[in-house]
Amino acid sequence: MIISSAKPFEEIIELLKDEDDIFIIGCGACAAKLHVGGEPEVLNMYRLLEEAGKHVVGWYVPSAACSVASFSSLMEKNPSIKEARSTLIMACGSGVSIIARMSDIPAYPSNNTKSLGGLSQGEVVSELCAMCGDCKVYYFGGICPKGQCPKQLLNGPCGGSIEGECEVHPEKDCVWELIYKKLQKMDRLDLLEKIWTIEEIEP
Ligand code: SF4
Ligand code: SF4
Repeated sequence: MIISSAKPFEEIIELLKDEDDIFIIGCGACAAKLHVGGEPEVLNMYRLLEEAGKHVVGWYVPSAACSVASFSSLMEKNPSIKEARSTLIMACGSGVSIIARMSDIPAYPSNNTKSLGGLSQGEVVSELCAMCGDCKVYYFGGICPKGQCPKQLLNGPCGGSIEGECEVHPEKDCVWELIYKKLQKMDRLDLLEKIWTIEEIEP
């Protein structure tokens, strides 16, 4: 099981300060068992966000956020997600990464992912998330360089990439190529202006 803990609500509200029309996605697997992403927590988050003046367009708890098949499958079950301008993902970092890959709507993490423990109910896609315990995946368009760049570079590519391929794993795309393209599609290249300090990278 992937071990996550809830970010303080103040941090979530700060993350969402420029967002509205939020769709909440929980996780019926690990996050539900840990009480950080099951239906009661999602409904509580719904209430807290509305009380904080945010408009929540809807919510859904898939059986496992890290194995949602497609954004259209989410839309089939929850047409209100079409109205969303952002999503809040109450799952582990892999769940956030999977949802972020499906759409250009910003996906914000409500949890910090810390470690593996116990048994996984589904496939654990560990290369998507390094379980760092301080989820910042939103700043990278939902594609985590901590989890997916072999050098874990947070301030841009290493320079070894050739034609978009990773220097270390040529069979894979350079994750920074993917991050740039995703942020460009989201019209959020401004997020790349942030320089990450060693304290932020290793809290
Ligand atoms: S920042 Fe990356 S490694 Fe850390 S929890 Fe989020 S997805 Fe996982
Ligand atoms: S080529 Fe890209 S993904 Fe590979 S190590 Fe360098 S920055 Fe990381």
